[in-house]
Amino acid sequence: MADLPRCRRASWDDVDAWADRLAAAVRDGDAVPTTIVGLTRGGWVPARLLADRLGVKRIVSLRAQHWGVTATPDGAATLAEGLSGPVADEATLVVDDITDTGDSLRLAVDHVREAHPRRLESATFLHIAHSKFTPTYFAEEIPRTAWVWVVFPWNYWEDLAQLATRAAERGRGVDAIRRTLREACGLDVPRADLERVARYVPLG
Ligand code: AMP
Repeated sequence: MADLPRCRRASWDDVDAWADRLAAAVRDGDAVPTTIVGLTRGGWVPARLLADRLGVKRIVSLRAQHWGVTATPDGAATLAEGLSGPVADEATLVVDDITDTGDSLRLAVDHVREAHPRRLESATFLHIAHSKFTPTYFAEEIPRTAWVWVVFPWNYWEDLAQLATRAAERGRGVDAIRRTLREACGLDVPRADLERVARYVPLG
């Protein structure tokens, strides 16, 4: 039977609060960045929200790959696509949503360093305390004993489809799946959302 992770659904209000806190921390640091590197895909929305709050005009992208499907690491972290633009002589902030193992951000920061930025810092909304890499800034720390899969708003439908598919192995149909998601994952999902997923994912 498929494993189901404990989950925490993040709201847009949570996201706004994390972005505010991170932006304040970056402003209190040595210098406001001139370029933000957003890791795809999880770091894109955080990167854009930070750029807005910090008045940063330039965002470049870097594609890291680690977790294949929801809550399942897919082998070692890799950089699937390099920087979409130069960062030489830029005060650079590398942004992601969460450091869990920390492998993706560490790989990304090492890669960006080789592109000779003037300054190099990193930031994530959430940081799990067991991570092997600690970002320069993070908005909230999750204790190592309290690991959860965070369902971010920008990953909601994808996470829901994958979690519901796994939950369906324990009992098919929207009501059974809803109950499993509540009991096994701690996730309260509106029935209408599961019905929507059931239109394109077979949930029986
Ligand atoms: P990692 O390399 O383990 O630090 O994580 C790489 C990426 O996988 C993160 O940027 C997230 O997009 C995703 N991810 C890893 N762990 C979690 C988690 N506990 N909750 C939500 N997303 C996660």
